[in-house]
Amino acid sequence: MTAAAAVRVPVLMYHEIAEASETGSSLAVSPAAFAAQLGYLRSAGFTAVTAGELSARLAGDVGKLPERPIVLTFDDGYGDFHSRAMPALDRYGCTATVFITTGWVQDADMRLSAAGRMLTWTQITEVAGAGVEIGAHTRRHPQLDQLPQKRVREELRASKQWLEDKLGLPVPGLAYPYGYSSARVRELAREAGYGYACGVGNRTASPASDQFELPRLTVRRATTMAAFRRLVDGRTTMRVLEDRALTRGWTGVRRVRARLNAAG
Ligand SMILES: [Zn+2]
Repeated sequence: MTAAAAVRVPVLMYHEIAEASETGSSLAVSPAAFAAQLGYLRSAGFTAVTAGELSARLAGDVGKLPERPIVLTFDDGYGDFHSRAMPALDRYGCTATVFITTGWVQDADMRLSAAGRMLTWTQITEVAGAGVEIGAHTRRHPQLDQLPQKRVREELRASKQWLEDKLGLPVPGLAYPYGYSSARVRELAREAGYGYACGVGNRTASPASDQFELPRLTVRRATTMAAFRRLVDGRTTMRVLEDRALTRGWTGVRRVRARLNAAG
């Protein structure tokens, strides 16, 4: 296996697209900074794919990824995704994945109090109709690794079911609130019918990356243009092998190593 066989895929995590005067969140990126970031991605030759497309590629289900793939994800389902992120994404020809906390949807039944103005069901439907992937982000946004198994199941199933019923589409994707999961949570996500799940973590993923813990890179208000470039061009981004046989070979090597370690 050579390095040339692997494609690096940065998976970015955004929250709000808002001015500092509009929100107290240090994760909110201003509309101007967001547009500049999309401009950079275009000039650097990146092509956006959805998290679901990346996951399908990791599973070996589809053909090649574009030459310089990137995944843009947005957590929680803030209303500004519809008013600000979508028009900018359109302008730059980018797709994205939005992970919705279903209990926070602006016009949800039995709505829970949310951090800000969130998307409405109509807006979520419009966004999905425009080709953006909709994923789940639980119903109440809990720390899943701290909950009893029954509640984890409930959170994972309820959010997926709501989204699929409203959209009439399969929803294979999940993002763990705060990026927190455990081996048990990942197993329950698989049981609940998800095909992949995103965590958070600015670390290098191995080519045989776990489909239920895809690492993401956090973009925040303090992320300067230079820091953004380092994020997407850097060595901390996930690598996806271009040939499935190589992925299997690499997994094999890892298994042998694990066995040797266990024997030692
Ligand atoms: Zn969240």
